[in-house]
Amino acid sequence: PPDVEQLGRATWTFLHTTAAYYPEKPTPTQRVNMLSLIRSLPMLYPCTSCATDFGEDVSKNPPDVSSRERLSKWLCERHNEVNQKLGKEKFDCVKVDERWRDGPPD
Ligand code: FAD
Repeated sequence: PPDVEQLGRATWTFLHTTAAYYPEKPTPTQRVNMLSLIRSLPMLYPCTSCATDFGEDVSKNPPDVSSRERLSKWLCERHNEVNQKLGKEKFDCVKVDERWRDGPPD
């Protein structure tokens, strides 16, 4: 079975980085592709219990793929749901660009 922690870190890195570089004004095709990426996870993610819970959370909180900023915030909130479930610290979503796009201010 996969290492759920390593898989999780790699997957969050991929998802947050992809959101951080998603267009400000996505075309309809870009929106559809992002939606299918997100909606694929509950069916394909190789940690079944993670996938089931994530699918339920996404159903309750539909993805906002209308802009880079809204998608990044939506994804940060979904990650915080998982953090809360695992007893991890909540991440301040104001800092999502600093973490995944811009790097720390100097
Ligand atoms: P991670 O949670 O992997 O975070 C990596 C880095 O992201 C952190 O160091 C921090 O810099 C940054 N970060 C943290 N929170 C946020 C945020 N809200 N927004 C933006 N950046 C943030 N594991 C389970 O045991 N059970 C589950 O049910 C489960 N469900 C998961 C569902 C999904 C969709 C994914 C992708 C992963 C899931 N995981 C689950 C794995 C879990 O979320 C962690 O990835 C894993 O426990 C390793 O945690 P970590 O403390 O190293 O940091």
